[in-house]
Amino acid sequence: MNTERVAELIHSLLIELGEDPNREGLARTPQRVAEAYAYLTSGYREDPEAIINGAVFEACSNNMIICRDIEVYSLCEHHMLPFFGRCHVGYIAQSHVIGLSKLARLVDCYARRLQIQERLTAHVAQAIMDATEAEGVGVVMECRHLCMMMRGVAKQNSLMTTSSVLGSFHDEEATRMEFLDLIGREMRH
Ligand code: ZN
Repeated sequence: MNTERVAELIHSLLIELGEDPNREGLARTPQRVAEAYAYLTSGYREDPEAIINGAVFEACSNNMIICRDIEVYSLCEHHMLPFFGRCHVGYIAQSHVIGLSKLARLVDCYARRLQIQERLTAHVAQAIMDATEAEGVGVVMECRHLCMMMRGVAKQNSLMTTSSVLGSFHDEEATRMEFLDLIGREMRH
């Protein structure tokens, strides 16, 4: 990303918004915003496979592995405003498991792009499936969208929930219910 070019565009945007980009408080704002966008969209410049590689281990467990409450911070592609919340991941390994810390980095890699929550959820699920060749994968994401909370519709408390289920989580109701029960039951604490 060309941060100097982005800073120029933010400088122009400030003028269009009716601001004076030369006043003291805004003097370094274009540069700061450009740097913030570079970070918030760094997922475009990361390779999810490279993140996971080296953190997939052989294991002969076929229990359900659950990782709850992974923090999610992303930008909606319709308004470029933040949406944020939590992500819960579950999978049943066949031969490989993935390091827990890598799950969070995987979520970040897809979240640091312009997204819609549905696609973000699906991408995380598919990446885990591809990396581990799991029997099944489930991802549930619960997020609040500032584009809804800050603007006219003002649904202050609306939490959007999306899910993506693959393999046995999709095909077998008992497996899917076990997953939802595990994350649901524990979430009430
Ligand atoms: Zn939006």
